[in-house]
Amino acid sequence: MTNAYPNLLKPLDLGFTELKNRVLMGSMHTGLEDRFWNIHKFARYFAERAEGGVGLMVTGGFSPNLVGQLAPLASTMNNRATALLHRHVTGAVHEAGGKICLQLLHAGRYGYQPLIVSASATKAPISPFKARALSTKGVERQINDFVNAAKLAKFAGYDGVEVMGSEGYFINQFLCERTNKRTDKWGGPYENRMRLPVEIVRRMREAVGPEFIIIYRLSMLDLVEGGQTWEQIVTLGKAIEKAGATIINTGIGWHEARVPTIVTSVPRGGFADVTAKFYGEVDIPVCTTNRINTPEKGEEILAAGKADMVSMARPLLADSEFVRKAEQGRGDEINTCIACNQACLDHVFQAKRASCLVNPRACHETELVLTVAPVVRRVAVVGAGPAGLAAATTAAKRGHKVTLFEADDKIGGQFNYAKRIPGKEEFYETLRYFQRQIDLLEIDLRLETRVGADELIEQGFDDVIIATGVKPRTPKIEGIDHPKVLGYLDVLRHNKPVGKSVAVIGAGGIGFDVSEFLTHDFGKHPEGEQVSVAEWQAEWGVNPTFEGPGGLAERAQTPSPRKIYLMQRKTGKVGGGLGKTSGWVHRSSLKHRDVEMLRGCRYDRIDDQGLHITLTDKDGKTGEIRVLAVDNVIICAGQESYRELFDQLADKGVKAHLIGGADVAEELDAKRAIRQGTEIAAAI
Ligand code: FAD
Ligand code: NAP
Ligand code: SF4
Repeated sequence: MTNAYPNLLKPLDLGFTELKNRVLMGSMHTGLEDRFWNIHKFARYFAERAEGGVGLMVTGGFSPNLVGQLAPLASTMNNRATALLHRHVTGAVHEAGGKICLQLLHAGRYGYQPLIVSASATKAPISPFKARALSTKGVERQINDFVNAAKLAKFAGYDGVEVMGSEGYFINQFLCERTNKRTDKWGGPYENRMRLPVEIVRRMREAVGPEFIIIYRLSMLDLVEGGQTWEQIVTLGKAIEKAGATIINTGIGWHEARVPTIVTSVPRGGFADVTAKFYGEVDIPVCTTNRINTPEKGEEILAAGKADMVSMARPLLADSEFVRKAEQGRGDEINTCIACNQACLDHVFQAKRASCLVNPRACHETELVLTVAPVVRRVAVVGAGPAGLAAATTAAKRGHKVTLFEADDKIGGQFNYAKRIPGKEEFYETLRYFQRQIDLLEIDLRLETRVGADELIEQGFDDVIIATGVKPRTPKIEGIDHPKVLGYLDVLRHNKPVGKSVAVIGAGGIGFDVSEFLTHDFGKHPEGEQVSVAEWQAEWGVNPTFEGPGGLAERAQTPSPRKIYLMQRKTGKVGGGLGKTSGWVHRSSLKHRDVEMLRGCRYDRIDDQGLHITLTDKDGKTGEIRVLAVDNVIICAGQESYRELFDQLADKGVKAHLIGGADVAEELDAKRAIRQGTEIAAAI
């Protein structure tokens, strides 16, 4: 058997038990934890990943008590009845040959509920509720609850627990001066502030005995003002080891930090050097994390001696067989997580069940089932954008004989423009994955073939799936035909020259992406190549030595080669419709490049002078008139469905399936396109 990843796939001996490889599926809240009636879905979700060969998994966070809940009625481990229910999960995982730990997460002031408690009476910027300060006895009660939850986890059959000590949650709130203003033995000097996690781990170890995994998620880089210093973090790590932890996992950045930690523009393995700096300070295994999404990256980090294990959370959502494929030398078949957050974190933050943009089966394993087709059908899929690719590969996986027609000379549709945006290089991976599937599944791919209705009818397919996508919308603005007006496809597809000053009409995802594209100097950084970690740290203000409170530094200037105005008609926040967990990163990146964002714009006219606009306030009152003396106006005003072919077929009496942008262009994204393509093909 080929083994291109000897370090990644090497077993890890924990003394009383052995992990079959160095891959930890990191904790991720999916929404399945929160309701007991989802326990079988929860069990199947983990069982599939255990079958996929991952060494150890950690569940989403479970609070040890009511005051620590993330939201009212959110996942909690505080009684035996709940623990018994969890035996479905641990049983399914063990049957599949896997190992699983329950994460214990006390939200502290990050809870989205009125009962929240913390070290001091403070309010987090990400919760509307103010936390109540715990009494000294109250702190003891929290420790007891942590210990009790660990005992319940053992009773439930878990192989261990992970104590969540990072990301700005309860324990982290005790560790940092910014949130701990106490004067008793739990506050003041660092020795007092670190007492809470040390006591939790020490008493937990006493209660659960030696043969139970205790992972401690150590905040190695707080990325907030008033965060811990490097010296303090090392002191804590050593104390946690002494208190009885089995593994130290890395935690990066508080949720309120203004430095991105996991979005797609963070370079791969962008925080591995933080763990590397800590590595060697303790004798127990140390796990690194954040933006590791390929076996190559994991192998590289371990081979360089930066950690003993790598944690990958979202990559295991994207592909439950990640480890198995790596083991079998099929790394090029992995469906890579593109770190978009669109179906995982964004869903969870909107209290919706998580899934995955590139793998809609994630967290829906019992519902979106791909059975072997009872009868083999000849299926035509027209359009090899995300929707068509998902439909074609899913149908072929089920055994159907698929022909995929694509007018362009390559697969991918609009993803071919998305992948060109600096910071979105991961989108290449999705196209690599689909191309490999097309080859493996022997799909008859016909590139440069703009297929027509008659041709499709002549070939007598059993099913026709139309995935012809979208065309850009042309807004009705006086002067829209002026030579200085370009569409986003002129820029991203046809590489038309763009002047030194630009007005971008439309501040949706594409307006933001086009602005990002135009603020980069491609002479400096070749397209398709991620920025280096050092450049990225400089841009976002991460101290490369990770020293100093929170590990923060001054942000370096990132001058743009052109002046950009990014505009929308709505009077709300510019880009308010962007992803919940990524929109702020896009806004911050463009602001840092001096992009001027204008809202409440009425586009009056485009002429030789530039773009004439009138600004309105949120009450609709018309105010300032401005002429933006720009060289180009770029239209990013949304799309309309492109479905002539579907209509032609309908006219000829052929009922085709319609998916993706061809079906509904409004609020279309690749998440919906891929899900719809998968669902339709699952049902044929
Ligand atoms: P398309 O991608 O438009 O594909 C349709 C395909 O059909 C095309 O390849 C076309 O050539 C082909 N075709 C049309 N007619 C015929 C015919 N008669 N015969 C053969 N072939 C035909 N979405 C996200 O979710 N997240 C993002 O971060 C994101 N970023 C983006 C960035 C940019 C710059 C752009 C432009 C889009 C981005 N999107 C993003 C949107 C996403 O790419 C689209 O939602 C998605 O591509 C729509 O998929 P689709 O398959 O329906 O259509
Ligand atoms: P979009 O998000 O719907 O944005 C369209 C923009 O055009 C809006 O700002 C809208 O704002 C403006 N607009 C609409 N009609 C207009 C008109 N007639 N005249 C002038 N302006 C008009 O669509 P998109 O940017 O084209 O993106 C397409 C899809 O791809 C979206 O679903 C998006 O989520 C997805 N995408 C996602 C990302 C990502 O990073 N997650 C990136 C790119 C694309 P006003 O109405 O206020 O002017
Ligand atoms: Fe990764 Fe995006 Fe899937 Fe989340 S939705 S797991 S970030 S590809």
